[in-house]
Amino acid sequence: MLLSNKVAIVTGGSRGIGRAIVEAFAAEGASVAFNYLKSEDKAVALKEQIETQGGKTLIFKRDVKNLDAMKKMVEGVKKEFGRLDVIVNNAGILKDKALMLMEEDDWGDVISTNLSGTFNLARAAIVTFLKQKAGNVINITSVAGITGMARQTNYSASKAGVIGLTKALAKEVGPYNVRVNAIAPGYTDTDMVQGLKDDFKKKVLEMIPLGRFGKAEEVAKAAVFLASDESKYITGQVITIDGGLSM
Ligand code: NDP
Repeated sequence: MLLSNKVAIVTGGSRGIGRAIVEAFAAEGASVAFNYLKSEDKAVALKEQIETQGGKTLIFKRDVKNLDAMKKMVEGVKKEFGRLDVIVNNAGILKDKALMLMEEDDWGDVISTNLSGTFNLARAAIVTFLKQKAGNVINITSVAGITGMARQTNYSASKAGVIGLTKALAKEVGPYNVRVNAIAPGYTDTDMVQGLKDDFKKKVLEMIPLGRFGKAEEVAKAAVFLASDESKYITGQVITIDGGLSM
């Protein structure tokens, strides 16, 4: 198994891409902790599913917007599993609006969840990684952070910020054997995309060379690769998984 003996934290593991990453990591032998904000029932059901399959998992109802909560989560994971090898900053939200209608909270909530949330868990874990001279940060950004998307100035800015953070941190901590990479999904079939209007989804599908939305499991496969020693010379990169959309 690719992730035997590794301990990982995935943010936003209750649904969508985060859930698929939790499942894929557990299937490859990792002990996986994950947090969520609201979906308690889904988080508990996923924990039970993984434990029934013989995996080890921990769940935390913790907000990525809160640095102190992320520090406590890292401490809790180290106490229970004895170490920490990988973090996946996946939790994210959308509040799409044209800029002329965007309120300060629409901007602030998206930046503080998607960008500051990524800073918060990275900040909480980095000293552990530096001390053990090994660690792995995987940030889930978006094609919107590369190309920009209309009505998503807040989201595109947050995700472009995540790419900047990824590259800066990769340079900073590479000498300590800590790798930092990002995955940029295109439209992926989760609650986030199911919430889009039907005529918009139809237009988007016409722009995707592979002619379909991605699956959360397809993003999770890249996360497993980046978390594993199969990718140990890869750092500071953004892997795009978008069916060709951003070409
Ligand atoms: P979903 O909306 O399906 O799931 C979001 C997850 O994030 C949920 O588990 C949710 O928890 C959690 N979450 C949200 N806010 C917080 C918070 N403040 N603290 C802790 N957890 C939180 O999203 P996706 O799975 O589609 O997206 C996952 C990531 O992938 C996001 O970063 C997104 O921007 C990115 N992405 C998604 C794309 C897509 O097409 N789906 C495309 C490109 C990027 P809860 O269930 O408890 O609310």
